[in-house]
Amino acid sequence: MNRDHPFIAQCDKALADIRAAGRYRRFVALEKLADRFPYYKVTMEGRTQDILVWSSNDYLAMGTDPEVIEASIEAARTMGAGAGGTRNIAGSSPIHVALEAELAALHGKDAALLFTSGYVSNQATLTAILNSMPGWHVFSDAQNHNSMIVGIKGGKAATVHVFAHNDLADLEARLAAAPADAPKMIAFESVYSMDGDIAPIGAICDLADKYNAITYLDEVHAVGMYGPHGAGVSERDGVAHRLTIIEGTLAKAYGCHGGYIAGDASVIDYIRSVAAGFIFTTALPPPTVAAALASIRRLKVDQARRDTLFERANLLKSKFDQAGLPRLPTESHIVPLMIGNATRATEVSMRLIREFGMYATPINYPTVPAGTERLRFTPGPKHTEAMMDQLVAALRHILSGETGTVAA
Ligand SMILES: *Cc1c(COP(=O)(O)O)cnc(C)c1O
Repeated sequence: MNRDHPFIAQCDKALADIRAAGRYRRFVALEKLADRFPYYKVTMEGRTQDILVWSSNDYLAMGTDPEVIEASIEAARTMGAGAGGTRNIAGSSPIHVALEAELAALHGKDAALLFTSGYVSNQATLTAILNSMPGWHVFSDAQNHNSMIVGIKGGKAATVHVFAHNDLADLEARLAAAPADAPKMIAFESVYSMDGDIAPIGAICDLADKYNAITYLDEVHAVGMYGPHGAGVSERDGVAHRLTIIEGTLAKAYGCHGGYIAGDASVIDYIRSVAAGFIFTTALPPPTVAAALASIRRLKVDQARRDTLFERANLLKSKFDQAGLPRLPTESHIVPLMIGNATRATEVSMRLIREFGMYATPINYPTVPAGTERLRFTPGPKHTEAMMDQLVAALRHILSGETGTVAA
C-alpha cells in the first residue's frame, strides 16, 4: 500500500483535529449479559467489571426477553443463520412475509416493507420517492436524523426546504410559498431522540391536507412504546391513518434488528420495485425476523411493560430534579442531562464507569449542536429505584467536584 498518498496524511490531520476538539470517538466494548440486562461486562485498563448501562436504545429490554431469544434460536435451528440472498434471490421466506403483514396491521396500513436497517429504510425510501417524478418540494424538519437527510439529498431534482424544528408556523409559511401545483412531501419524526421532544403529528397532517402534501413519519424512537399496541405516537394520537408512510425500526424498543416502512399498497409496491437499498441487499436473517415477530406480538398486548417504562422515566426525571441535576425537560421516555462541552461530557461519562460502575453515552457534536453536549439516560423496566439512587449520588459527586454548582 502507498502510504505517501495525500489521502493518508489527510486522515491523520482530520483525526488530530477531531481529537483536539474533544470529539474523538472511543467505543467502550460492552458485553451484554442477557440474563442480567441492563448489566454489561466491560474490560477497561486491564480490569473487568460489571457495568450498569443507562443509555441503551433497547428501551424495553426486549433484546434479552426469553420469548424473543427462543424465537431467534428456534428459527436459526430450522432456517439457518442467514437468508442467503436478496428478497428476489431466494431470500424471501414465509416469516419475512408474515413480519411485513404484522407491521402493516400494527400501523393500520395496507402493506409494509422490510429493510436491512432503519437507516437504510429512510435513505432508500426518501431517495426513491424524490426521484419518482420531477418537481418535488420536500419539507424536512431541522432535527431530522441523518438517514433522512441523506435520503433527501439523494433526490436529484428535488427542492429541499428545512423548516424550524416542530415549528408549525415556519412549516406553513414554507408550504404556502412553494408552487401550488408542485408535488410536496413533509418528512419528520415523532419522538426526537436527542432532545426527547415530540412532534405535533395531527397538526402537521392538517397542513399536509391544506397544501396537498404527502407525509413521511419516522417513528423509530416510538414504536413498541407509544400507543395502546405500541404502534407509535401516531397510534397514541389517533392519526396513523392520516400519514402516507410510517417508518420504524426493529432495533430499538423491539430489541432486534432491521427497519421498515408501512403505507398505501401502491406506494409500498412501488418502493419495493425501485428502491436500490431494498433491491440490492441480502434479506434480513431468519433468526432476526423471527425474533422481531415475537417481540412485536408480545408488545402489542403488553401495556404493563409500556406503563413501567414511563413510570421509570418519570421517576428518574423527578430524582434528577430533586438533586438539582440540569436535565432537559422532556415529554418522552428520554432523559437528557446537559453538560455543555464535549471534553467534559466525555470526562463525566468516563468517571461514571471508572468510579461508579455505570455507563451513559456522551452525546457530542455532530450528533447534537456544539455547546449542548450531554449525557443521555434511557431508564427502562429493568432499572430499579435503588439503581437510580446510586446514579443520582454518582452524578452529584462528579458534577459537584467539577463545577461546584451542584451540592454534593
Ligand atoms: C436510530 C435511528 C434510525 C436508524 O435506525 P436503525 O435501525 O438503527 O438503522 C433512524 N431514524 C432515527 C430517528 C434514529 O434515531
